[in-house]
Amino acid sequence: LPAPALEALQPDDVAALLPRPAPDAQKYSRGVVGLRAGSATYPGAALLCAGGAATGLCGMVRYVGDETVARQVREAHPEIVGEGRVQAWVVGPGGGEQAGEALSAALADGVPLVVDADALQHVDGPLGVPAVLTPHAGELARMLDVERDEVEEAPLAHVSRAAEQYDAVVLLKGRHTLVATPDGRVRATTTGVPWLATAGAGDVLSGLVGALLAAGLTPYDAASVGSWLHGAAATVASSGGPVVAGQVAGAVAAVVRALPDVR
Ligand code: AMP
Ligand code: MG
Repeated sequence: LPAPALEALQPDDVAALLPRPAPDAQKYSRGVVGLRAGSATYPGAALLCAGGAATGLCGMVRYVGDETVARQVREAHPEIVGEGRVQAWVVGPGGGEQAGEALSAALADGVPLVVDADALQHVDGPLGVPAVLTPHAGELARMLDVERDEVEEAPLAHVSRAAEQYDAVVLLKGRHTLVATPDGRVRATTTGVPWLATAGAGDVLSGLVGALLAAGLTPYDAASVGSWLHGAAATVASSGGPVVAGQVAGAVAAVVRALPDVR
């Protein structure tokens, strides 16, 4: 791994795919992402997911959830607003027991979704909307009813099978991040660092992918560009040393600035 047949996005590809504001852009035209993440038990997941979403890659971020958590999100990210129309939802990070309800509420909107963490347990087949599912190996094992070891021994086969079975883009996180489509395409992400194996890193990723989905990227491009930026930002934030999840979102802008000029 990665096997030769895998695609890997190059900086030129990411530069070309990245949604950039047109001269006449306004916040709504750039896309609005909604977050249903975190809970009283796991407020940190909401804050980290919000950090990943509020990196400026779409026009607006909305947070919907528990009022205590919503207040913390607004304190940490004054840019973030409350309920309203969105072009994509992120559901699940730190959702705990509310994750099932959050998924149903997001699905009712009929817009594309990122489904992560606790919400993955409530997905039992195709969702009927364009979706990115973002399991780590343990979560993917549960989705496929296999052992975690089996996923870790053959990640490519398992992520591909899940994409087909769930008719969704599946982003398998871990040492080798793989993004698979239902029709058999797979991109590998090679920009990360092992320092990224740290609590909350996945919550930041889900917010980032959601922002790109809201900005109009396809689920496949949003997942693979989001994962590429997330790994590259972690590498910048780490600079060879330890990193915590909250530092990753702050390095996204520097990664975008360093992309080749291919417009
Ligand atoms: P989560 O398991 O939801 O917290 O997400 C963990 C994040 O860290 C994902 O973006 C993974 O791809 C990344 N990650 C975990 N382990 C490694 C590793 N050994 N090397 C690089 N990235 C990793
Ligand atoms: Mg996670």
